[in-house]
Amino acid sequence: MIPPVLLTPEKDPMGKAIAEYFAKGKAVKLRVLSTQFDEDELPVAQLFRPFAAMPELERTALTLAQGRILDVGAGSGCHALALQEMGKDVVAIDISPLSVETMSLRGVRDARHVNLFDPAFTERFDCILMLMNGSGIIGRLENMPAFFQRAKSLLNPGGCIYLDSSDLRYLFDEDETPPTDTYYGQVDFVMQYRNIRGDAFDWLYIDATTLKQHAAENGFEVEVIQEGEHYDYLARLTPKAE
Ligand code: SAH
Repeated sequence: MIPPVLLTPEKDPMGKAIAEYFAKGKAVKLRVLSTQFDEDELPVAQLFRPFAAMPELERTALTLAQGRILDVGAGSGCHALALQEMGKDVVAIDISPLSVETMSLRGVRDARHVNLFDPAFTERFDCILMLMNGSGIIGRLENMPAFFQRAKSLLNPGGCIYLDSSDLRYLFDEDETPPTDTYYGQVDFVMQYRNIRGDAFDWLYIDATTLKQHAAENGFEVEVIQEGEHYDYLARLTPKAE
C-alpha cells in the first residue's frame, strides 16, 4: 500500500512556486536537492508551458487521449488546460494544495486535491495521463503492484495509461555498470522554494524494458509509442484481457 499523503501549504514548495508565478508572472529559484545528485533547479516558467512549447512526447499523449481523462500530478494544469482547449473532458488531480488552487484560478474546470493512491477516489476514466516523467509518482519498483492494481480500478474497459519516462543510464559512462543492489532509476528528492522546504520523496525513472517486465507481471501490456531526444519515451499501458 502506498500511503495517500496530501501536502499541506507549509510543505508545498512547488505549489508555492506555481502560485507565485501565476500571481506575479515571475518566481525565484525552485531548488531540487537529492542525496544522489548535485543541487539543481526546476525552471518554474517551464511548468506553465503551453501546448506549442511542450515536448513532442507530451503533445502526442494529449492528442491521443480520448474519453474521460485523468491528469495525474497535474501541477499548474498545463496539460489539463490544453486538453480543455481541444474540447476534451478532463479531471486534474494533485497532492499539492497550492497547485490545485492555481489550476482552478487558471480555468481548469475540475481540479481536485487528491492523491492517486487514495482508495476513496473511486471514479473511472478512459485515459490516465502521467506526464513529465509520470512514472515518478510510482516512487519505487516495489510499488509497481500497488500502482497497477490502482490503475486497473480507475480504468474503464478499453481504457489506457499514457506515461513518459527516461532511462537514467545516460548518467553512467559507457564502460561503467550501473549499481545492481538498487535499481538505478530510483532517486530521492527534496524541493525548496524560498523558506518552504518539502519532505523528501522517492521518484522513479524507469527504462522501457524494466517497465515492460513489471507491467507483464501485473497484467498490463506496454507499447512504446514514441522515443524522445534523450533516452526518454512515451508508453501506452493497457490492461491485458483477463
Ligand atoms: N504534470 C505536471 C507536473 C509534474 S510535477 C507537468 O507536467 O508540468 C509532478 C506533480 O505530481 C507535482 O505537482 C506533485 O505534487 C504531483 N504528485 C506527486 N505525487 C502524486 C500523487 N501520488 N497523486 C497525485 N499527484 C501527485
